[in-house]
Amino acid sequence: TRKLFGEHKLILSVDRLDYSKGILHRLRGFATFLEHHAEYHGKVTLAMVIVPSRDHVGSYAELKTKIDEEIGSINGRYSTMNWTPVCYFYHGFSLEELTAMYYVADIALVTPLRDGMNLVAKEYVATKCDNPGVLILSEMAGAAVELTDAIQINPNDTEQIENAICQALEMPEEEQKQRLKRMQSILSVQTVNKWAADFVNELNATCMKNDMLRKKRIVAASIAQIKLKYNHAKQRLILLDYDGTLTALKPRPEDAQPTPELISILQQLASDPANHIVINSGRDHFTLEKWLGTLPISMAAEHGAFYKENGVWHKNIKKIEWGAGILSILQMFVDRTPRSHLEVKETALAWHYRESDAWLGTLRAQQLVNTQISLCTRQKLQILQGNKVIEIKSPDCNKGSEVGRLLANRRYDFVIAMGDDTTDEDMFQALPMSAITIKIGSVSEAANYHLSAQSDVLPFLRSLLGKQKTATKEGSIKNRLTFAFDFLKDLLKTQ
Ligand SMILES: [Mg+2]
Repeated sequence: TRKLFGEHKLILSVDRLDYSKGILHRLRGFATFLEHHAEYHGKVTLAMVIVPSRDHVGSYAELKTKIDEEIGSINGRYSTMNWTPVCYFYHGFSLEELTAMYYVADIALVTPLRDGMNLVAKEYVATKCDNPGVLILSEMAGAAVELTDAIQINPNDTEQIENAICQALEMPEEEQKQRLKRMQSILSVQTVNKWAADFVNELNATCMKNDMLRKKRIVAASIAQIKLKYNHAKQRLILLDYDGTLTALKPRPEDAQPTPELISILQQLASDPANHIVINSGRDHFTLEKWLGTLPISMAAEHGAFYKENGVWHKNIKKIEWGAGILSILQMFVDRTPRSHLEVKETALAWHYRESDAWLGTLRAQQLVNTQISLCTRQKLQILQGNKVIEIKSPDCNKGSEVGRLLANRRYDFVIAMGDDTTDEDMFQALPMSAITIKIGSVSEAANYHLSAQSDVLPFLRSLLGKQKTATKEGSIKNRLTFAFDFLKDLLKTQ
């Protein structure tokens, strides 16, 4: 194989004919590279192996035609007597032949637009042994998470492909070998057996989690128990998260205004002089004041950085001056993630990606945390991964510190806290064991009860308001029977 390509540097790409593989993007990247780097003309060859698949299907045949045309246009423009820029093979190869190609290729160019794993990248790394070589890998391939020593690119960005080819061609041999060695050691540990064992362990963990979830789920019996404690209490503290708890999560956070039903329930709860209601939220205090300011309740904003008591807002920490570094990285992530946006609060920065593509959003969120973590540690800032939001804030305040402040100021004989997000765990953990903590949505180790959906929250709060005596005689027998039945069911489950 090596002889076939002479002394040229060899870039290899191997795919099945498929749209998801980004074959046209790759060719455009290579064309741009040739256009801007005349110094490499006659020195670099792209060997493109495409394994036929479904080419009798119209759209695949069309893709094949486009690939043929693109290759034709590159070769037509740059070919010389003794150099063809793109060598095209439209057929399958045996494993031995492929292995030989991987072994001699100086660069593997793997640019799928989306790929569960991508074995070509792993085969290339595994085949290399001590031979040098550079892997250019799309960040959209599942394997990118493991193969972090590859030059990672966004397959939609032609300029990035061009630059990656240059970087790979110029990379010193020693660095190539080191990067390959690190990737090989990862591959040798992540075997099929390990994968299977991990899978089974995770399955078991999920089963146990499900079990825990079932035991914590709020049923009629638990409501009755909570109601009983509520009725006997003289001083109650009711801590409520706002987004995802009192209101449904909205694609645009500014649309999550309180419904008339919510206002009415909060009003009724607050009308009982024994109740101290606190909305404990990560939102800014302007919005909370605008939406709930007229209610006779307390509030905490930006994770306890601000709090409102007896109608007056107080500030716990001073405004943070955000460094240009942190802001410019966040701006870059906004640009690279369609429909995400940045919210700049006085004491926190929030990057929201609720409206973005779920898969891309999760990928970018992880990348954002990885890039910001050292910068934030240096500036003594905290990074929080919430529900479709990454927040950067001062570590001095959180929902738990607000709970500490409230408990220090007054004695309560009944405390209940409800929240849906990881930030609410701080609130749950800051409370004494006797408190009733309710996690909405996913189950939490820190909370002792669980409601599966936000839509269950208002009915639950309303059930606390209900009269102590049962309303009607017919209803009462039926209610008692359902109560007893649920209670027995619960009892059986816990046995
Ligand atoms: Mg929330």
